[in-house]
Order: sequence, then structure tokens, then C-alpha cells
Amino acid sequence: MDKYKVLIGLEMHCEISETNTKVFSSAKNGTKTANVDLSNIHIRPVDMAFPGTLPVVNKEAVKMSLMASMILNCKQPEYLYFERKNYYYPDLPKGFQITQETKPAPIGIYGHLTFDCHGEEKTVRINNLHLEEDAASSDHYTNCSRINYNRAGVPLLELVTEPDIHSADEAVAFLETMRSIYQYAGISEADSKKGQIRCDVNVSLMEKDKDESDPNNWGTKIEIKNVNSFGGVRDAINYEIQRQLDLIEDGKYEEMEQQTRRWDEESGTTIFMRSKVDAIDYKYFVEPNIPKIKISKEWLEEIRSQIPRLASERKETYINEYGLTDYDATIIVKEKPVAEYYEKMVELGANPKEASNWLTTNLLGHLNKLEQSITEISMTPEMLVELISLIDKKEISSKQAKEVFYDSLTTGKTPKQIVKEKGMTQISDEGAITKIANEVLDEHPDLIEKYKNGRTNVVDFLVGQIMKKTRGTANPGMARSTMLSEIEKR
Ligand code: ADP
Ligand code: MG
Repeated sequence: MDKYKVLIGLEMHCEISETNTKVFSSAKNGTKTANVDLSNIHIRPVDMAFPGTLPVVNKEAVKMSLMASMILNCKQPEYLYFERKNYYYPDLPKGFQITQETKPAPIGIYGHLTFDCHGEEKTVRINNLHLEEDAASSDHYTNCSRINYNRAGVPLLELVTEPDIHSADEAVAFLETMRSIYQYAGISEADSKKGQIRCDVNVSLMEKDKDESDPNNWGTKIEIKNVNSFGGVRDAINYEIQRQLDLIEDGKYEEMEQQTRRWDEESGTTIFMRSKVDAIDYKYFVEPNIPKIKISKEWLEEIRSQIPRLASERKETYINEYGLTDYDATIIVKEKPVAEYYEKMVELGANPKEASNWLTTNLLGHLNKLEQSITEISMTPEMLVELISLIDKKEISSKQAKEVFYDSLTTGKTPKQIVKEKGMTQISDEGAITKIANEVLDEHPDLIEKYKNGRTNVVDFLVGQIMKKTRGTANPGMARSTMLSEIEKR
């Protein structure tokens, strides 16, 4: 391995989940609920290629794609074309997919993305970003296969990188950054568990000391199709690197031809599918049923002004304005719903550091254990802020707060309600009461004097002051014994 360098280029497909309808039809975009919806309910005649039907371009899908193109620092086209990619498959009733492939006018070209990989900054060039339609999904059973056309025509964004990635870790960090961008920009949930992300991974080896900027020095690329999890991407790359190293060792790398393989999750290996000579000729041509679309400068500017705050920007705010550590800020921005939960807490007046502590240590720690997502729980940011304020006002001790927290999380009741129901409205925290007792004593030096001179009944008044300061929430027995021991120390 010392003699070689790995080159990896990714083709990342991500379903746009945030449009209401499909990319060329008025059928519902059921991407978000694909796992629970009945099969074949989100269909219009055009999705089934009925004669006489025509595609209509979804403006919202184009807008989201242009936004992604801008975030990736790509150049946007003046005119948008769509093209036909012709092939037959049962999941493609038209016999072609509408995509953007060969014309120099996809949604974006020649961009770049800078991202963090284990604390190191990496930049990958983006060759192009294009908008296309997804195919239907097929489910295979022992004695039959079923096709679900709900997915046919769902908007799909495909981005193609240059082979600027050099390890499995870098590939995964790139994909995680992209997922975050799609989520924060409101383009897609980008949830690989729901099948929204699929990758083709291209891997080759080249001699380390040769010039990487000259494609003549690159090795023969092997394409691995349809890897559908980030873990799969990591494993497929590492497997493929080793396989190619073994070929070099056996003196067989030179004769290896460009080929397409598939990742087999179960065996953890890549399996030969076809070689370059068997490459399919898709006979691309411009889709005649969709006119070229003029993209105005004004529209582009409007879209650019609407790009939401992305993870990197929010992270900076958390560190520079809220005083969080890089570590905590990174945890909070990793998932958009968590960042939104956090920002809501701050908006409600919680101290940013305190809010971060409760969120990362208690709430996220608990959710990780249960493998739950923050969107699935009934504890709202309002409830967590209420809990923090109960502690701040010393109405409950931090020990009691933990109990209230778990109760609130499991029952969905508000902290105040739980405190009331459990009769917790008293401070039984010795430390807290000692502190208040001393505050009271400091305010009444004359009474300490009287006490020392034998007027022990002043203690009643002093205990009353503790009760007043805690608005009746201090444990009265503890307030009295604490006051007695503290006044003795004076
Ligand atoms: P093809 O014409 O076979 O589709 P492309 O040039 O369009 O090939 O590239 C497809 C993907 O393969 C891109 O992501 C690109 O970065 C990647 N790629 C191209 N050459 C190599 C290589 N030698 N090693 C690794 N990846 C490569
Ligand atoms: Mg290609």
C-alpha cells in the first residue's frame, strides 16, 4: 500500500423528499412515508406511461436542485434541458428515464465542496449535479416479484464528484456533509434507512509518486453500483482496495479491465456484473416533450437569498456567541432536528450552555441508548426549559431534576405537573438550604447577636425567612435544623 494511492469518485443519488408532488407529474411525492404507505397509491397516468400523457416539470423540484447547485459552488445553466436515457426494465414503464446527462446544461456543473474529515479540511471537486426521476421499486419474493410505482417519478438529485477522495473515511465524511446540506437546506430528509440515498462508488489505485492531476496516471476504475448505506460505502471501498492490491500482487492488475461490480452486503464482497465492453448504450437524446427552460438571473438571485442557515454556520454561532465547545456544537448540528430543538430552547430564554448540557448529556444520551430520534419523543423544548428553570429557581434539587426529567420523558407530562403530583415542591437539598440559611444570616447580623445573647426564639423568624425566600418550597424540618447548625457556626 505504501507505493499506491487510492482514487475514489462518488455518484450520489438522493431523493428530494420535500416537494409535494413528483418531478414530472401531479402524483404525491410519498418519499417520506414510503415505508408505511400502501403500494401503488401515488400514481398518475403519466407515471404509468399511458399514451397521450405528457410530463410537466415541477418548479419546486427545480428550485431545490438549483439551491443545491449553489451550495455546491456549481455553475447554473442559462437554459435547462432534460434528456431521455433509453433502456427497458419493469420498474420503468416508459422504457426511458428522464434525466440530464450529456448536454452541457444540467442543474449544476464544476463546483466543489469543502468538508471536515477527522479535523482535517478536504475539498472535492463536483463534476456535475443533475435532476432526474426515480424508477419504481421492485420487491422480490420466493415465487414472485412485485413492483411498487409509488416511487416512479420521485425527484432524484444525482451528484458526480471528480476522483478527489482518497479513503473510505473521506468518502463517508463527504456523504455525511452532503446529507447535512440536504437536510438543512430543506431539500431532503436524506435518510438512507428510508432508501433515499444510493451511491455508486468508483475506485482505482495509482502509483503514489505520480502526478494525480494527470488522468493518464490514474488506474483502471472499478464502479460499484447501488450501495445504499454509508457503512456499505465504507466496507465496499475497503474491500475493493484490498481486492485491487491483491491483483497487483499477483501481477494481474494490468490486465484488469474497467468493470461494474455490485456490493453484496451479506458476503461483504463486490461481485462482477459487467465489463466496459458490455456497457449499455442508452441512446440519449433531448426529451422532446419538455421545452428548454430559461432560468432567469432574478430567479437565481431569489433562490440564493433563500438558502437556509447550514450546519457550519450554526456551529460557528454556537461556539462564538453561545460559548459552546467545538465538541458540543458538533454534536448539536449533526442532525437538523436536534439543532432546531436546541435553538428553540435558547429562544425560550434558556442559558445556552445549560441548555446544551441538558440536551447533549441527558436527552441525547438517553435517545442514543433507546435508538430513538428527537422527533419521536413527547418532551418538547418548552418542557426541558421549564425543567431547567425549576432547578435555577431552586424549586427542585438537581437530583430531583433527574427524576423529573425521566418521568417527563416517559410520560410526556410537564415538569411542573410532575413536581406537583409527586409533592416535590420542597427543597430537600442540604447544600441549597445551607446556602439560603447563610444568605438570611448575612442579612440579619443583629439577630445573630440576639441569639448569642440567649434570645433563641429568633430562630423561628430566621426559618420563616428561609421559607419566604424559597416561596415555601424548602423542607421545613431541614430548614430549621440547618439554621440551628449554621447560626451556631457564627
Ligand atoms: P463513465 O464515463 O464511465 O461514467 P465518468 O468519467 O463519467 O465515467 O466518471 C464516473 C465517476 O467515476 C465519477 O465519479 C469519476 O470521478 C469517477 N472516476 C473516473 N475515473 C476514475 C478513476 N480512475 N478512479 C476512480 N474514480 C474514477
Ligand atoms: Mg458517467
